Formats: sequence, structure tokens, C-alpha cells
Amino acid sequence: MATSMTFGTVHTWESSPLLSSSRTREQCATQQRPGEQRITEQRPASAAGAARESSSIPALVEQTNTVNINGAVFSTSTRRYILADADSFYASCERVFHPELAHKPVLVLSNNDGCVVTRTAEAKPYIPKGVPWFQIRETAFEHGAVARSSNYELYGSISARMMNVMHEFFEHQEVYSIDECFLETRLPLHDALLQTHRMRQAVWQGVGIPLSIGIAPTKTLAKIVNHWVKHGNGTAHIGTWDQFDADSQRRLLQSVPIDEVWGVGRRLTRKLSSMGIINAWDLSQQDPNAIHHRFSVLLQRTVLELRGIACIEDEVSATTGARKDQILCSRMFGHPITGRDTLCQAFSVYTQDACRRLRRQNGLATSVGIFAGISPYNPDEGGVPLPLTIRTLPTPSDDPLYIVKFITHELLPAIDPSTRFIRAGVLLSGLIPSSEYHPFEQFKAQRDDSHIGQLLDSINRRYGDHSIGIGYGGVRGTGRAKEEVGASWNMKRAMLSSRSTTRWDEMMVVKAN
Ligand SMILES: [Mg+2]
Repeated sequence: MATSMTFGTVHTWESSPLLSSSRTREQCATQQRPGEQRITEQRPASAAGAARESSSIPALVEQTNTVNINGAVFSTSTRRYILADADSFYASCERVFHPELAHKPVLVLSNNDGCVVTRTAEAKPYIPKGVPWFQIRETAFEHGAVARSSNYELYGSISARMMNVMHEFFEHQEVYSIDECFLETRLPLHDALLQTHRMRQAVWQGVGIPLSIGIAPTKTLAKIVNHWVKHGNGTAHIGTWDQFDADSQRRLLQSVPIDEVWGVGRRLTRKLSSMGIINAWDLSQQDPNAIHHRFSVLLQRTVLELRGIACIEDEVSATTGARKDQILCSRMFGHPITGRDTLCQAFSVYTQDACRRLRRQNGLATSVGIFAGISPYNPDEGGVPLPLTIRTLPTPSDDPLYIVKFITHELLPAIDPSTRFIRAGVLLSGLIPSSEYHPFEQFKAQRDDSHIGQLLDSINRRYGDHSIGIGYGGVRGTGRAKEEVGASWNMKRAMLSSRSTTRWDEMMVVKAN
């Protein structure tokens, strides 16, 4: 007896296998939860049926092989990477608390309501990405589009919820950005698929965010499959590398331009193109050792990944408190600012933000950089921008007081008081784990032993950004709401939605008749 099985409304997969009797944590999580939509699955009536049913899917053999490249050993086991990426994430977040926006074109604008950064599928046919808002405002309204200012507080909060739900289904999770993460599994393909379907459904039902998912033996291939799911595959929301036969895999790789391969980037594209490497397939056919010799070990790994050999380890992320090499905090101002004091104020606020992220990953910064820019559109205004200047700290630190003092006294040069700055940023770099720093007593790191940083974090978390700050960063000005504090140069966000998950006074009100 063979019938199809349907996973909610997202995907159809013929011929389900029987779940293994030895249950892992991942498998246990596939059990239906209270309130979860029933997923129907019809199983083959016999073991022979199971074998017959699964014959349409490439056979998978649990094995662990290794390949040795330049002395480094990489595994070619049946480990799989699942790349879960939210669809139009910012716009989807806007829909969570405003269901009336479902099926409407929704746009989210960049800082200061400048450009369109996110569009829902309904808006894509007539609103290009990255276009300045003022240029397409009329067209957007004609099509009934709804525009919103970036509400990073809301997006960050919803992202954390979404990541938590996914982590319940797969133990190994690497949060890659605010809206995407890699999950790792060693489940047989069918079980991994079933688990992934359930995870997607749980995120949709519990958080309200739609996901597109690519599953492959390597992260680079998972990226490619995910892109295929989003842009070239009709209605299915989950795709796997294994569902392609060898010829289809080749054609899929040939359809991916070289500059869209994860980890290649614009800089390498020109050089690779001049060598006749114009798509992912071309790159996968190169000799990995020659690529290493001519380019770098990073590109060599990309070649191997395109061949199905996983060799890109987790790049841990600040989103989860994991480790990054540098932390950048930069913003556009709501209006141009002048004067050293105001610039110091911005640097102080950004430093506190950067130090908060640094503490979350238990790191210390060994260098600090600052920069401030002027508008490229008003050359007549003149003024002197402040290019990125990086200096090594006397001792590694995560202390905002110490770093702000260093910036204002050592790093910030005399500035032209008439220069109108439109953006500024603070870069913490040369990050090291604090646990690996063991100086002699007299060279002890400027650690935030007083826990002032943590205290600032908790107060700002509770009462909102800028409710307290140190030195120049203790600012008061006009916020969005009358009672809200914030610097006058804060970003312009005229169409900001409610921060329903992080502010008591902006929580949704539900009325029942
Ligand atoms: Mg996304």
C-alpha cells in the first residue's frame, strides 16, 4: 500500500520510510507537540515495501570516509547541513503582529528611511531592491504597498525566538545571521527531512516566520540548494542536494554565477572569470591544490565543498554570543551632526553597544578603530571626513569606560568644527577570548571587573536604549515617544512599528467581544 504523505502544506514527499527504533534527541523532537497541526504520514506495509518505496530516492549509506588535502583531513561522512533562511525576514516580522498585512506588498526601509532593503514577494515585481524610498514612494502606494521603518529591536527579538525553536529540533546550530542558521544532522535523509518539515512548521506556527530550507552534505551546497528553493522551485520550501541526480546537480551548479558562490565575493570574481571560471560548476572542476597555490586555502575549501566534501567549520556568530573576529557598530545619523562633543557622544554610545556584544562572546579587543563620514551627495558643503583609524589598545579590554577614554583622548584627532558628519562607527578588532589571555599581574587586562558594563546592559535592556550611559554616552534627547530618551541624532524612523516583544507599553492589545 503506497500513498503519498503530506507535510502540512509546504511540501510533498513520496514514500516515507519507517522511523528508526533507536531514538536520538533529534528523533524524539519529531513527536507531535500539543496544538501542532497533524502531519499525516502513511508508511509502507512491509519492510519489502519500505525498500521499494525508498528506491526512488538515492540510496544513502552511513559511512565515514576521509580525504586528505595538504595534510588536512576532511570527512566525507553522511553528515548533512540544513540551511534555514527566513523569507523576507524583516517584512515577515512586520506581519507577525499585523496579520492584516498578509498577502499585501510590504516594504522595509533602511536606516533613516533611505532605501528599500526588504520586500515581500507581492512587492518584488514592481519595487526593485535597494532603490531610494523617495523615488518609488508614489508607485508603492499606487500598488497598495505598506512601508515600515527598520525596527531592529523587534527583528532581533523575533530572530532569537525563531532560533530557539529551531534549536529544539537540531542540537548543533550555528546562527549565521539574523535570519539564517546552519543546522547539522547525521540522521538518515528521510528522517532529517521529516524533522526539518516539523521544524519549519513549528517556526511558522509558533513564531509566524516562513522559512526556506536547503539540505546538502556541505554548507556551500546547502546555500545553493536554499537559493534554488527560494528562486527557482515553484512552491516547495525545502530542497535537498540528494534529490538531484548527477546530471541535475551539474546543471544546478552551472546555473550559479561565480560571484554568487558563497565565499567567492566580488574581488575574486574578476580573476576567476578571466580564467574561464564563470559558474559554480567550473570552480568545482578545478584542482584544489592549484587553487590553494594560486588563491588561498579558503577558496580551496570552497572547491572541495562544491564537490560535497565538508570543510568549512562553524564561523561562530555574535548573534548567539559566539565568537567573531571583529565587531563593528556603525549608524547613519538622523540628521548631519557637527562638533567634537556630539561626535564623541556617538562614539561613546556605539562603543557601549560594541562592548556589550564583545562581553556576550567573552572576548577582549586588542585594537579599536573609529571613522565618521560626510554626505557624498553634497560636495559643496565641504568638510573633512574621518577615515577609519585603528590603534592598538595598551592592554586588551572589554571595558566601555576604558575604550571610550582611549577613543576620545588618543584616537580622535582635532576635527573641523564645520564638518557635517552623516554617519560614524566604532570597530573593535583583534578579538581574543578572555580565557586565553593570561598576562603578568602588572599587565592585567582592563577587564570590566566592576561589572559596570553588565549593569548598563541590564538597565538599557529594561528601560530601552540610551536610558543610561557613561560619559558622553549618557545622552538625553528626543525619542520616538515623548517619554523615550535618545540622542537627537538618532536614526529617523517615521514609520516604525510597535516593538511588541520588548516594550511593555507597545505590547499588542487584544480585545475579545
Ligand atoms: Mg533571508
